[in-house]
Amino acid sequence: MIIGIIGAMQEEITPLLKMFQDYKIHKIANNTFYEITHKNIKIFIAYSKIGKVHASITATTLITLFKCEKIIFSGVAGGLHPDLKVGDLLLATKLCQHDVDISAFGHPLGFIPESSIYITTDSTLNNLAKQIAQKKGILLKEGVIASGDQFIHDANKKHFLIKEFKADAVEMEGAAVAVVCNLFNIPFCIFRSISDSADQEADISFDTFLEQAANTSAIFVKEIIEALV
Ligand code: SAH
Repeated sequence: MIIGIIGAMQEEITPLLKMFQDYKIHKIANNTFYEITHKNIKIFIAYSKIGKVHASITATTLITLFKCEKIIFSGVAGGLHPDLKVGDLLLATKLCQHDVDISAFGHPLGFIPESSIYITTDSTLNNLAKQIAQKKGILLKEGVIASGDQFIHDANKKHFLIKEFKADAVEMEGAAVAVVCNLFNIPFCIFRSISDSADQEADISFDTFLEQAANTSAIFVKEIIEALV
């Protein structure tokens, strides 16, 4: 089996690289892919750089060039739902692109013709994640993620995302990975640990908790990998 793991930033994949230690390096399109052989599986890990375009390129490369059969995203996000606190771990049920707007033509916000507003994550991978969380006593929350090319740090935008998309968390890559995996028919799941609350203090909270939150998500992804081998 070949598995692809994506983070957006170096900080999101560093804990995983430390866990596996031994890797081969591939450089494609100014992006580094770390190839790991772990027991009976091959794993490719890369950080895409921030945003939906970068995340799409990395996901496409993992699937088409490195032949990854499952994709896992590990990273951090801003919490929108009041129950999501800094440090919590979230499993995405479905994702949407909150910055897509062709409403001038009568389309709903987030909708692109021949696509859909939401893309659902893989139920088999999600069930595995929930089983692991239960067995290990890890609190794994579930929710809708809205992705867009903006760092949300504003109460009005935050409430818009909750009202319009029923989003529980916001980040900048997940929905792009979802679109790619959905089109290539590759099962995928998205884990995000909360680094901030997408409010006025989000930038400070993000800087303070990035490493810790990235680590929380990476530790859980390692558990998933161990369950897949
Ligand atoms: N500090 C970084 C920029 C971080 S952008 C720099 O200066 O280079 C925020 C990253 O974390 C994105 O990859 C995004 O997916 C995620 N994220 C965390 N909190 C977010 C929020 N409130 N809004 C949008 N994305 C958020």
